[in-house]
Amino acid sequence: NEATDNFIISNNYIKNNIRKRQKFEHKGDFGKALLIGGSYGQVGSIALSTNAALRVGTGIVHTLAPECGYQILQTLAPEAIFHGAGQKIVETIELLVNDYTLGIGPGLGSDNITKGAFEQLLKNENKPLVLDADALNIIATDKKLLKSIPENSILTPHPKEFERIFGKTNSSLEQCELARKKAIEFKIHIVLKGHYTTILTPLGICYYNPTGNAGMAKGGSGDVLTGIITGLLAQSYSPTDAAIIGCYLHGKAGDIAALKKSQEAMTAQDIINYLSEVFVTLN
Ligand code: AMP
Ligand code: MG
Repeated sequence: NEATDNFIISNNYIKNNIRKRQKFEHKGDFGKALLIGGSYGQVGSIALSTNAALRVGTGIVHTLAPECGYQILQTLAPEAIFHGAGQKIVETIELLVNDYTLGIGPGLGSDNITKGAFEQLLKNENKPLVLDADALNIIATDKKLLKSIPENSILTPHPKEFERIFGKTNSSLEQCELARKKAIEFKIHIVLKGHYTTILTPLGICYYNPTGNAGMAKGGSGDVLTGIITGLLAQSYSPTDAAIIGCYLHGKAGDIAALKKSQEAMTAQDIINYLSEVFVTLN
């Protein structure tokens, strides 16, 4: 059952598949996201993910981060609910994780205690997760963990993170074909980030994202994508659509940021801020 189909994501597909908010809906209808990450000196990463999840329409956004991030998160993202776990690093991931759609990894670090908490979570979870950054780096240090990833989860590696988990390839085309095989083998989505981010589904179907620009080649851009995809997944988009629509929106907001602020000066926070213009043109 190995598909080899390749598609380019179109503006029309996004327009037709964006969930329209109905007049009488309330926040409970728009999902609950929980972003997990941050460590001393890298709390900004999970703040970016949190704000990105807020800007794609998620009903309620929670953040689980170490206590050192308390004031930072409550200030940068007053709409989100903060949960502290550990002082300088995330030490436990307990909480009522069952109720939430989880995005894990930005700024998380890979201390052994954090690693233990993450492994425990992987073993207990069976709904799709969004895994990025240090969540991927932890998996790279213990590849047996690949088998514990819940079906349909979305992994968002940049090429180096991909290489750490799945090994070196000789070209981006080869990397894409390897990602296709691994997506099928582990029944996961792999979002290979870069110019023309490529999404491989558990069925082996490949989607190219046409949006985005080199102004996004900067720290923080990926953390924003994690929040966007987690927020969409929380709103009951299918995992495949959360990945497809998430990458498209992220790139499009980046393109508007580049137009208004230049590729040089734009930051990851600008990507978050221009999500509003993307939705205005889609609605
Ligand atoms: P990360 O490396 O985790 O910060 O992720 C970087 C994000 O920025 C990904 O979503 C990439 O697709 C995007 N990005 C980085 N460089 C480029 C580029 N040259 N063109 C388009 N998108 C890019
Ligand atoms: Mg990253």
